Amino acid sequence: MLDAIVSPPLPINEPVFSYAPGSPERAKLKEALRTMSAAPVDIPMWIDGKEVRTGNTLEVRSPHNHSLLLGHVHQGSVEHVHMAIEAAKRAQADWAALSWADRSGIFLKAAELLAGPYRSVLNGATMLGQSKTAHQAEIDSACELIDFFRFNVHYAQRIASEQPQSSAGVWNMLEPRPLEGFVLAATPFNFTAIAGNLPTAPALMGNTVVWKPSALATYSAYFLVELFKEAGLPNGVINVVQGSPEPIVNACLDHPDLAGVHFTGSTPVFQTMWKRVGANMARYKSYPRLVGETGGKDFVFAHRSADVEALAVALVRGAYEYQGQKCSAASRAYIPASIWPKLRARLVDLIGEIKMGDVSDFRNFMGAVIGEASFRRMDEHIQLAKASSETQVLAGGTCDKTKGFFVAPTLVETTNPAHVLMERELFGPLLCVWVYPDADEEKALDLCDSTSPYALTGALFSQDRGFLLRASRRLRFAAGNLYINDKPTGAVVGQQPFGGGRASGTNDKAGSVLNLYRWISPRTVKENFTPPKSLAYPFMTDE
Ligand code: NAD
Repeated sequence: MLDAIVSPPLPINEPVFSYAPGSPERAKLKEALRTMSAAPVDIPMWIDGKEVRTGNTLEVRSPHNHSLLLGHVHQGSVEHVHMAIEAAKRAQADWAALSWADRSGIFLKAAELLAGPYRSVLNGATMLGQSKTAHQAEIDSACELIDFFRFNVHYAQRIASEQPQSSAGVWNMLEPRPLEGFVLAATPFNFTAIAGNLPTAPALMGNTVVWKPSALATYSAYFLVELFKEAGLPNGVINVVQGSPEPIVNACLDHPDLAGVHFTGSTPVFQTMWKRVGANMARYKSYPRLVGETGGKDFVFAHRSADVEALAVALVRGAYEYQGQKCSAASRAYIPASIWPKLRARLVDLIGEIKMGDVSDFRNFMGAVIGEASFRRMDEHIQLAKASSETQVLAGGTCDKTKGFFVAPTLVETTNPAHVLMERELFGPLLCVWVYPDADEEKALDLCDSTSPYALTGALFSQDRGFLLRASRRLRFAAGNLYINDKPTGAVVGQQPFGGGRASGTNDKAGSVLNLYRWISPRTVKENFTPPKSLAYPFMTDE
């Protein structure tokens, strides 16, 4: 907008509202929940700034209340993917020609709208559509997404400011150009903030995007689109296509103009996408950037010096908040025998206090799991835990889908550290514990490192600095985000850049400058003020 080197407002993490009784935010959110529950919405696609309806719709219902109809989603097909890609390509030249600062204004406005009038709307949508409690919705769809918008602008400025050295008579410049082509953003159901960040981070860097939201989170995605519109995002910069995931994603992956994939979701889906990109390599105009943050089987490893009370709370919050449906959720624990009796009793007590039910009732700590497939997967594994001679269910162990998809917070102890419950990502409220003899710490650390293919988050609990050093060294590649005396969930943008290695993803650290680097293809420009005018070099002169 201005011919000046501008500085955006310094980002500060959005404060988390308490929603305590009597607070204004609680009243606003309750009102939003009431009005939204009473008025189902018609959810179109959004292509080239236009709402696109096919009439072929699917119902959206609340996971914790089958009788609550939230809306109808119009289902698109490959034809709509091609419309979206063409719209993205048409929009790219004008969008990429804007300065980073001009693009940033739109996302800073989105942050303000979300901190203000959209806060209760997006939180309400995430509660009703994804069964998050008020607190879980607040830290996701409000605070984390606001932080993504504000911090990414700050990182974009950093990238634009980072310039090479220039020697005498020369000016070197680096221009952070966007990628050529379109970026596919495919987003998971479990975080509205991720759904908002995956299409907007590449867009901030000048790219245009085809966004495929999760079929299990189309309700909050609808309100995200409303937010983008009100923030002033130009037509065609982000285009939303809904429908059967495989054909939509494949139509994008098969297109010669695919410039990048910004994915968060399960490991098998990302691996299938990567294979398809590999098979298509010869047809692309450039090498697509593949960014995928995927599954986890996140550990908590305790030492005998651990503070048992802190450990118990971290395990219960880490394993059961949002029904264990966080990629970072604690799902396997390694506990020394000396503290297990005390810890087990405390865990069983705390789990006994957990209330589960409709998240509109603010007394509940847990809601329902996201849908039928997830409910079935949890039920099957809980039955396995009950039937296996190597496992014992210490708490929970019940599933009930009469009213909604409810799975009780479940604690399992196993005698087999390689049991499937210690290895497989289940993405639900089940924590499996293996108790190791105190003297076998080294063996237990080796098992923790090698049992699962993932390496996303992990936590160490100890008051002994020597153990913390040993364990963090031994588990160096077992987690991209390691926590010391804290639960393995709850990464904050700008504070704990998030992502893991091995089967957990490309570790491009959402919420940091590292992620934004993936969405640029820099151009180096050298201007020579005194170009040479003679072919001969001095060394060629006669002696
Ligand atoms: P998912 O893999 O089922 O879906 C992710 C996206 O891929 C959705 O948009 C979905 O519609 C699409 N998809 C599904 N099947 C597809 C197919 N066959 N072909 C093409 N696209 C397909 O994941 P989910 O259940 O929505 O999310 C949970 C998963 O995401 C868990 O594995 C979790 O660990 C992971 N996750 C990881 C992070 C992280 O930062 N590492 C964050 C959140 C979630």
